Amino acid sequence: MNILDGKATSKAIQQEIAAEVAERTSKGLKTPHLAAVLIGADGASQTYVNSKVKACERCGFKSTLVQRPADISEEELLQIVDDLNNNDDIDGFIVQLPLPKHINEQSVVNAIRQSKDVDGFHPASVGKMVLNLPTFLPATPYGIMQLLERYDVPTQGKHAVVIGRSHIVGSPMSILLSKNGAPGNCTVTLTHSRTKNLEEITKTADIIVVALGVPEFLKADMVKDGAVVIDVGITRVEDASTPKGYAIKGDVAYDEVAPKCSFITPVPGGVGPMTIASLLKNTLLAAADKPA
Ligand code: NAD
Repeated sequence: MNILDGKATSKAIQQEIAAEVAERTSKGLKTPHLAAVLIGADGASQTYVNSKVKACERCGFKSTLVQRPADISEEELLQIVDDLNNNDDIDGFIVQLPLPKHINEQSVVNAIRQSKDVDGFHPASVGKMVLNLPTFLPATPYGIMQLLERYDVPTQGKHAVVIGRSHIVGSPMSILLSKNGAPGNCTVTLTHSRTKNLEEITKTADIIVVALGVPEFLKADMVKDGAVVIDVGITRVEDASTPKGYAIKGDVAYDEVAPKCSFITPVPGGVGPMTIASLLKNTLLAAADKPA
């Protein structure tokens, strides 16, 4: 069993990005600048945004955090998006999801200028991804593809089963794994809450990507020997024995599944850090070769 170490791989990618940023600036090119918009005070969202901002600093990017209370109107938020679209110093930006219920998330995502859409959630970015054209790929699936690539995990002709069909993880993951490329060329089954006989399907999988948000959902008897298991789940579970009062759980019953696997991602330290590395790669792409 091999561990797909997302923490170490993300660190290596961030070092590569930092070297590229130093080279860019020495050539008189612009320092990449990422902005993040955080609405409300949700603990998990705050943690994610903070780690994105810190990673920007490590790589020599500029970063801007725009923070507003949860009662912001949709109109005010759309104005912030418009300002970021028109701010030439900002190469790319993200609006951290989920947004408060009274705001239409899709309207906000649609308002982001596609050339600055480093989360890859804009319909035009999604369309380009489906057509296998160069674009910003959604950070989590992009991170998983990089992990598969860097560990040379065989994918061609393999049966990949994706559990969960969200717009940010499951659906794009199914598209990227099936694309004609390396990694890719998988035969993909996309499963979801209405799928019948899930266990029968997962038992035939060479690669399983689990992204549903139910701690320890994937059990050993759902996995065949030698499978590759990618655990996307991040759920905070109460745990009085930890200083924070909670533990982070993945969607895989790791202790029983890992011994059967050829490769597996741990939680934490697997997919999560790769998501951040991908966002930075997208921002570098957005900065392209703009002069300082
Ligand atoms: P979501 O809640 O939007 O979607 C969950 C999906 O799971 C749905 O498509 C649903 O049909 C499916 N599902 C629910 N119950 C099921 C069942 N019993 N059998 C089969 N499918 C079922 O989830 P999401 O936003 O994709 O997030 C999934 C998990 O991944 C969450 O724990 C989230 O926190 C985590 N996540 C992690 C990262 C990361 O960087 N590691 C990024 C995004 C999301």
